[in-house]
Amino acid sequence: MGKEIDIPIVKEEDIIAANMRRDKYSLKRDVQAREFNEAIVTRLLAESARHIKCEKCGKEFTSDSKENGVLSCPECR
Ligand SMILES: [Zn+2]
Repeated sequence: MGKEIDIPIVKEEDIIAANMRRDKYSLKRDVQAREFNEAIVTRLLAESARHIKCEKCGKEFTSDSKENGVLSCPECR
């Protein structure tokens, strides 16, 4: 009897398992990408919410959260 050569046999189950792992991975990546996009949208919304149009000159300016309720730009104050 000759020397046995160990050939790795790819079983069908292994391919299915590999595919499932890959699907799971890409799903995870999709979720991460979606969460990332949502974070950006949330941030942009938060930033745009702080864009205030001056009630005196109509110029848009940004106000930080400390200045909530301020309706005139720094130049008109
Ligand atoms: Zn103004």
